[in-house]
Amino acid sequence: MISIVVPIKQVPDMERVKFDKEKGTVDRSSAPGEINPFDLNALEAAVQIKEKLGATVTTVSMGPPQAEAALRDALSRGADRGILLVDRAFAGADTWATSYTLASAIQRLGQTDLIVCGEKTVDGDTGQVGPEIAEWLDIPHVAYVSEIKNVGEKMVVVCDMEGDRYLMESRFPLLITVTKDINSPRLPSFSDKLKARKAEIEKCTAEELSAVADASRFGLKGSPTRLNKVIVPSEEGRKGEIFRGNPEETALRLADALKEGGLSENVK
Ligand SMILES: Cc1cc2nc3c(=O)[nH]c(=O)nc-3n(C[C@H](O)[C@H](O)[C@H](O)COP(=O)(O)OP(=O)(O)OC[C@H]3O[C@@H](n4cnc5c(N)ncnc54)[C@H](O)[C@@H]3O)c2cc1C
Repeated sequence: MISIVVPIKQVPDMERVKFDKEKGTVDRSSAPGEINPFDLNALEAAVQIKEKLGATVTTVSMGPPQAEAALRDALSRGADRGILLVDRAFAGADTWATSYTLASAIQRLGQTDLIVCGEKTVDGDTGQVGPEIAEWLDIPHVAYVSEIKNVGEKMVVVCDMEGDRYLMESRFPLLITVTKDINSPRLPSFSDKLKARKAEIEKCTAEELSAVADASRFGLKGSPTRLNKVIVPSEEGRKGEIFRGNPEETALRLADALKEGGLSENVK
């Protein structure tokens, strides 16, 4: 049976979340948390493989205790197991420390054939964590997968990059990151939601993970990135203009508009 792991991140509902412009931080209490939308596609892809070929689907999330709700949601959508990496020692992690922690948890699980991530998150939006997990585990990865053609001895997928489509084949173990085009995530039934509410979510602390990992690489102390300042872009003062006409004329008008707006001093 294929063993699949889907790392999922709980993100705030970006339509409703408020930003503290003074502090430059996201006020996470202003909106409920939900599974990162791309991770729903990742989970759906894994569950479809399970339904077709037989597999176990384990979801792993690193986050605060509230992230347990995201793992329950994943169980109601077809995952078999949910593991929450929860510890103060994981706080303040950048993508490097996040991917190390997730990779260590996957290593601790034992044999994993396939890891399916979302292509990115709607809050951090770096798209780095998936490929970094593959690097830590020293396995191949294919990013931006929009179609799974075949899962057999090898996996054949289509990935979309910069407007081009590539047919890729890889051996297992393998990590893929998926785009929204890969599928339409299912909605959980009421009874599945009820079942998930009672299911056990396993917890894993930094100490437990230290058996397979170097604890100095967790959280803020394992994060080489330093955040100097976060600026929330202001909606006010935004305007747009479309210039039409022949290219020469349009370029001149655009250059004038950039100069007028003080956006380019070097335009001649
Ligand atoms: C200096 C610095 C400090 C930070 N401090 C904090 C902090 O204190 N608290 C905090 O919440 N964030 C913090 N962050 C943000 C944190 O680094 C990101 O949330 C995390 O690394 C994921 O990056 P991303 O959202 O860009 O994921 P992406 O790379 O865009 O995500 C790709 C995929 O990776 C998987 N994935 C990503 N994150 C997780 C996760 N946590 N669990 C499971 N799967 C995941 C999902 O499958 C996702 O679709 C900090 C970032 C920096 C740079």
